[in-house]
Amino acid sequence: MSVSTPLKLYNTLTREREFFAPIDEGCVRLYVCGPTVYDFAHIGNARPLIVFDVLYRLLREIYGASHVKYVRNITDVDDKINARAAERGIAIRELTEETNRVFQEDVAALNCLAPDVQPRATEHIAEMIAIIEKLIANGHAYEADGHVLFDVPSMPDYGQLSRRPLDDMIAGARVEVAPYKKGEMDFVLWKPSKEDEPGWDSPWGRGRPGWHIECSAMSYKHLGEVFDIHGGGIDLVFPHHENEIAQTRCAFGHNVMANIWMHNGFLQVEGEKMSKSLGNFVTIHELLNSDRFGGRPWKGEVLRFAMLRSHYRQPIDWTVKALEEAEKTLQRWYAVLCAQGVTAESAAQAPLRENFMEALLDDLNIARAIAELHVLAAKAEPSKTATGKAEAEKFLRAANLLGLLQDDPAAWEPKALAGVEIDEAKVEKLVAERLAARKARNFAESDRLRDLLLEMGVKLKDGKDPATGEPVTNWEVSS
Ligand code: AMP
Ligand code: ZN
Repeated sequence: MSVSTPLKLYNTLTREREFFAPIDEGCVRLYVCGPTVYDFAHIGNARPLIVFDVLYRLLREIYGASHVKYVRNITDVDDKINARAAERGIAIRELTEETNRVFQEDVAALNCLAPDVQPRATEHIAEMIAIIEKLIANGHAYEADGHVLFDVPSMPDYGQLSRRPLDDMIAGARVEVAPYKKGEMDFVLWKPSKEDEPGWDSPWGRGRPGWHIECSAMSYKHLGEVFDIHGGGIDLVFPHHENEIAQTRCAFGHNVMANIWMHNGFLQVEGEKMSKSLGNFVTIHELLNSDRFGGRPWKGEVLRFAMLRSHYRQPIDWTVKALEEAEKTLQRWYAVLCAQGVTAESAAQAPLRENFMEALLDDLNIARAIAELHVLAAKAEPSKTATGKAEAEKFLRAANLLGLLQDDPAAWEPKALAGVEIDEAKVEKLVAERLAARKARNFAESDRLRDLLLEMGVKLKDGKDPATGEPVTNWEVSS
């Protein structure tokens, strides 16, 4: 499509909103740090998955689907993985395979498109070794005690991304106190493996990579020495992204690793930081498949929509209440689609509302884009205009760009969604009996039947048939 307003993105590196100009319009390149596959992904992990999925969809819309390359890695070598596999008494490979399988199911349920490449760290060891060798050769890394470390003072402008005071960076780096470090902030590129730890042969003996070098190697292999956008959660700015930048820039000699660095805000749960010890750890898998949260499983689209309602850079307080609200809106929207009989295919050619696109192009202002969706939905309501169907197509086209409303509307019938088993035939019978009592002005009986239905979770709405003026009663499952 031709876009009149250019895309602006907030760049953590410059702390400014910048016009986005890809290095090569024929191949716009995006890298996002993926999961370490040792445990189920939690609802905080869902945030970058969803936010960068919207960015990916928007870039595809602007530059064409075949002109965007999205890489999201899988970290399948890490000390947390080793520890968890030992704890569970299973092989490392079994743990990473199982975790990755569930992860893929989770992201698909969130309506995230699969990235073009999902490289695994264990399949890029040769590339990691090659980069480390380059760093040693050009004086940015040194070997000590079977380890290879990045020599932070060798890079005069280290720290540009996080702009942390030196003391802070030293404190952060001291997490790993080690006698073989020359400088306090030096970090590990390669470390030796014991017999029972995963390891690969290298010029420095049998060992395994540090975390940061994995992303430098995978982004280089699939996107090149310099690429367009690098994303992840705000917690990754230091040390992970700072160190990725140091490795890649010093290995290849460029001023930047990626032109734009984007970070999603952090998510907490019901007002508290999520942690296993607080018992408020919310996994995507459980939300989709169990009744632990709010007494029932949730559709992935509800999780996605609830997440999209906050600006991607702001913190989110995740609540069950927000899911309930998100679900209600989606139900209403699906009802509009159902009534108008529109499908993604019929909507594919509909124009995108300008205000909607402007919101997205303005540093992914998805919350404002959703406000525009409400406007579009209101116009698409069957009773509103004679051109309702065309309006519904515009509405659906815009929603689809956010990865919303792609389900079969029939699966979203309010009655099917209640989380309580409703015997529709029985409800219809009782509603008809109550209507007859109402018409006969037998209000005691009419009230009794209304209360009975309420107990069953059914809410009634009395009205008049606009054509005949006769009393009618509609019902819905109360939420
Ligand atoms: P991890 O597996 O911890 O490396 O996290 C994978 C991705 O999820 C990274 O991009 C993190 O920044 C992001 N992430 C982790 N926890 C949260 C959270 N509570 N809120 C938002 N993003 C998070
Ligand atoms: Zn990374």
